[in-house]
Amino acid sequence: MSVQQILKTIEENSIMFVDFRFIGLNGGVHHITLPVSEVNEETFENGVAFDGSSIPGFRGIEESDMVMMPDTESAFVDPFTLHPTLNIMCNIFTPAGERYDRDPRSIAQKAEEYLQKSGVGTAAFFAPESEFFIFDDVRFENNMNSSFYSVDSEEAAWNTGRKEEGGNLGYKVAVKGGYVPVAPTDAQQDIRSEMVRIMEETGLKVERHHHEVATAGQAEINFRFSTLTTTADNLIKYKYIVQNVAKQWGKVATFMPKPLFGDNGSGMHVHSSIFDGDTPLFYEKGAYGNLSKLAMNYIGGILYHAPALIALTNPSTNSFKRLVPGYEAPVNLVFSKGNRSAAVRIPIAAVSPKGCRIEFRTPDSTANPYLAFAAMLLAGLDGIKKGLDPVALGYGPFDKNIYELSDDEKKEIRSVPGTLEEALDALESDSAFLTESGVFSEDFIANYIAFKRNEAKQVAIRIHPHEFNLYFNV
Ligand code: GLN
Ligand code: MG
Ligand code: MG
Ligand code: MG
Repeated sequence: MSVQQILKTIEENSIMFVDFRFIGLNGGVHHITLPVSEVNEETFENGVAFDGSSIPGFRGIEESDMVMMPDTESAFVDPFTLHPTLNIMCNIFTPAGERYDRDPRSIAQKAEEYLQKSGVGTAAFFAPESEFFIFDDVRFENNMNSSFYSVDSEEAAWNTGRKEEGGNLGYKVAVKGGYVPVAPTDAQQDIRSEMVRIMEETGLKVERHHHEVATAGQAEINFRFSTLTTTADNLIKYKYIVQNVAKQWGKVATFMPKPLFGDNGSGMHVHSSIFDGDTPLFYEKGAYGNLSKLAMNYIGGILYHAPALIALTNPSTNSFKRLVPGYEAPVNLVFSKGNRSAAVRIPIAAVSPKGCRIEFRTPDSTANPYLAFAAMLLAGLDGIKKGLDPVALGYGPFDKNIYELSDDEKKEIRSVPGTLEEALDALESDSAFLTESGVFSEDFIANYIAFKRNEAKQVAIRIHPHEFNLYFNV
């Protein structure tokens, strides 16, 4: 959309405010709102100033002046504001007019530019499956405040309402028993449909929605794939709509990877592929999973760099409470055609040459999608550049049930890092694949690691509810 078209949209929709938005280090969205009387062609040329020192993980107080530069392609009418408001996503620039090296959206765009320069292909496509829970406000609060919450699956069930006082088990979803039952067991069809209705109104192309595996209101809505930065923008829009509709319905929605002990967590499986013009580069009929050598090298890059990559795709202390055996979340750094405990799965059902892609199952929605998708692409491109063969490197394929392998076979299999700190250690020693291309600056990586180590420390110094079970009566 050109600036002229934006100004026309403002007029045609009687827009009263324009909301300029940018992304923080953790993927949170920040905004500054201008009345339309203040918005003209110059706003789009000069941008909108803000104080970068007040955004966690951004600049120090001594260099606080920053500028948001609107990307007119990302504009949409806000479905929730009282007064008609146009939302526009922005990139962050320094006052000197340079792209800010800690701006996640600029990093995503630089990754796309690097792909084109690399000569491998013209576009990378991404599609996230971002799962979430919808909780009743009150129940969620109880859950948060209880110091003895969820120590086993029985208690997880209790916490999510399966044993409501004075009720019975009729129409209740059992722990891990929530995969696609109809109403009345699925009590959230209407709220998901309402989310989808609004998503479509704002231009998201939604493919389906359903109840997910966990008990009591785990949901998933899938929207159509697109190029890297646009998909990250779409995910931000998706989360905004999910959380605002939940709020309107007196609920809360959370993308936290593991809100309930003993039940499935919420992942964000990410599908990706590379095209050269109209030609899909991942497809080769008859090869393993119908995957080309280039796609196999891409998988090699993802798995080889996975421990470091996970610091960006699973960047919270809670992320690692999801990555445990038994809940369809991956723990093994292997690839496979069907196995859901593998970090990389190759979808084979109903796949056309153009739909040929790989699914990285490790990520979750605490990831900043701009950083996570950019890092995934760079890991894959490094695998292509170096010809990393996932078979020769011992990453599979593992198509049999991994739990049934012999102990010797199991020993060969590498696992995902066990904690955020381990992932950050891995990133510290393996970041050249992110920085060599100039997509991520070295300063960005150092700052990111320090920022995240502090989060891990903040969690570690707090008293955990389970410590009461273990130690209170000692
Ligand atoms: N919730 C699972 C995860 O954590 C995935 C379940 C599914 O999509 N089949 O990744
Ligand atoms: Mg899915
Ligand atoms: Mg799912
Ligand atoms: Mg999936």
